[in-house]
Amino acid sequence: MAMKSTIPSRLLPRDGRFGSGPSKVRAAQVQAVADANPTVLGTSHRQAPVRGLVGDVRRLLAELYRLPDGYEVLLSNGGASFVWDAAAFGLIRDKAQLAAFGEFGSKFAASVCAAPHLDEPTVHRAAPGSIAVPVLEAGVDTYAWPHNETSTGACAPVHRVGEASEALIVVDGTSAAGAIELDPTQVDFYYFAPQKSFASDGGLWFALTSPAAVERIEHIAASGRYVPASLSLADAVTHSRADQTLNTPAITTLIMMRAQLEWMLDQGGLAAMAARSAASSTAIYEWAESRDFTSPFVAHRAHRSPVVVTVDLSDDVDSSQLQAILRAHGIVDVFAYRKLGRNQVRIGVFPAVATADVEALLACIDWVVDHR
Ligand SMILES: *Cc1c(COP(=O)(O)O)cnc(C)c1O
Repeated sequence: MAMKSTIPSRLLPRDGRFGSGPSKVRAAQVQAVADANPTVLGTSHRQAPVRGLVGDVRRLLAELYRLPDGYEVLLSNGGASFVWDAAAFGLIRDKAQLAAFGEFGSKFAASVCAAPHLDEPTVHRAAPGSIAVPVLEAGVDTYAWPHNETSTGACAPVHRVGEASEALIVVDGTSAAGAIELDPTQVDFYYFAPQKSFASDGGLWFALTSPAAVERIEHIAASGRYVPASLSLADAVTHSRADQTLNTPAITTLIMMRAQLEWMLDQGGLAAMAARSAASSTAIYEWAESRDFTSPFVAHRAHRSPVVVTVDLSDDVDSSQLQAILRAHGIVDVFAYRKLGRNQVRIGVFPAVATADVEALLACIDWVVDHR
């Protein structure tokens, strides 16, 4: 592909951010940060303004998910990746079963395999682009899998495994939360970070937590098992209930998250957000099926993510050259997951991304390919 390409400006999207996380932040969220100066920014996280902010985020998340009685919202520092280690210390009793079909699910499985105090977990694996699902198994006390595998764009169902099972269901909702509908009664610990659909910054994790999960956390904490303080879920329960965190949280992240949650609820809540992402992703899948240089990476339609869309390119269209041309025009972060190593584009269509901008992106790709 020639690098001289200049895409006509009439084709360009208004906002060129299509990353899979961190992802597009809306201007109103940045304004909310400016508006929080000097009343919230730069003030103590142990006092009312910041505690009120944490409380708002917890309450708004409960509202967005219509959490059943007894469910609560936990948060702590570290981001979603820290939950894998925290869960190995404080949520899994002895034996877990995990499903891994991409980078993020595999990392959780690796954390559990490495934990010396746990039994060897059962891990169901599937090739990138497909999904693996949990299977009822005697002796398993925790089932865990990602809702949306951000590295591949494959999406798995979330439901309990076995009707009467007392095992906990622990689901990584990092790129699904806020964009894919969920029945919270089907899960005990649904965790995510704020830099994807919540259009905020990284560094925190949140979890929608059932009473059974809190009971497990408290039981393990009382058992005498060694748990590093910074990874203690029991501590996260105590601090979250007081609208606090163990150590200082990123206040701007919380401010942007609250602004995004207010916008989401104002626009019609989770169903409306899911519809926004579905409109954008459907436009991309239809485009990818109608061009001769593209094909959706996830073959099975039911497994195609509505938020992170992966599209393989034919050999004569070089993804890195295409990305370089797009980036020169302010269209960024449509690269394939680095370790996947495919000639691919991966497009994050979280609710903040406008479908009109997605359509413009597709027109720009068509233009670049036509003008090779
Ligand atoms: C982004 C992502 C993570 C990692 O989140 P961090 O906050 O960077 O730790 C984990 N799981 C999934 C599914 C993700 O999309």
